[in-house]
Amino acid sequence: YFIALEGGDGAGKSTQAQALAEWIRSKGHEVVLTREPGGSPVGQRLRAMLLDVGNTGISHRAEALLYAADRAEHVENVILPALERGAVVITDRYMDSSIAYQGAGRDLSATEVTRISRWATGGLVPDLTVVLDVAPEAARERFTEALDRLESEPGDFHQRVRAGFLALAAADPSRYLVVDASRPATAVTTAVRHRLDRDLPL
Ligand code: C5P
Repeated sequence: YFIALEGGDGAGKSTQAQALAEWIRSKGHEVVLTREPGGSPVGQRLRAMLLDVGNTGISHRAEALLYAADRAEHVENVILPALERGAVVITDRYMDSSIAYQGAGRDLSATEVTRISRWATGGLVPDLTVVLDVAPEAARERFTEALDRLESEPGDFHQRVRAGFLALAAADPSRYLVVDASRPATAVTTAVRHRLDRDLPL
């Protein structure tokens, strides 16, 4: 079973990923908790490069391809082997982040970014994608560690990213769960557990 956690900077994805991993492990399942960018050894180098060049030092197409390369490596070396041995995989970000950030956030076509990501992943789609939805202003107030990123992007970039995630969820509601992530972390975890109780044979 493959779960992706998605959402803007400061939505609380890593906190939720940890809480869910603990809960699923407590039910006796192997859980692989991983993230993008940087979920594989090559990915860690790509992550360092992507965060280092920031949003000004790289062309948008090159940036999209580096995220896709990170994802290809992640799927082949981490996610697929884990799924094949029956583990539950939870990834903190996956292809929706590329569609929302490089597509909706930048000036690239969402269709093209989607196509690159499908090719990079060999078409591997999560069983469930959880979108942790929070207004960028609220994220800024609640999560100081998201401040740098939230303030380094121009104008309505984060609004477009947020709208990008919500559009993906709206287009395929049965495979998505949108959670209001402005609520306390425990309430968010409960909402996701509720959905997994139904969908996951735990
Ligand atoms: O989620 P995490 O903080 O690890 O992501 C690292 C940075 O990369 C974040 O600032 C996020 O906004 C950015 N990112 C991006 N495009 C992606 C994935 C992440 O711009 N496809």
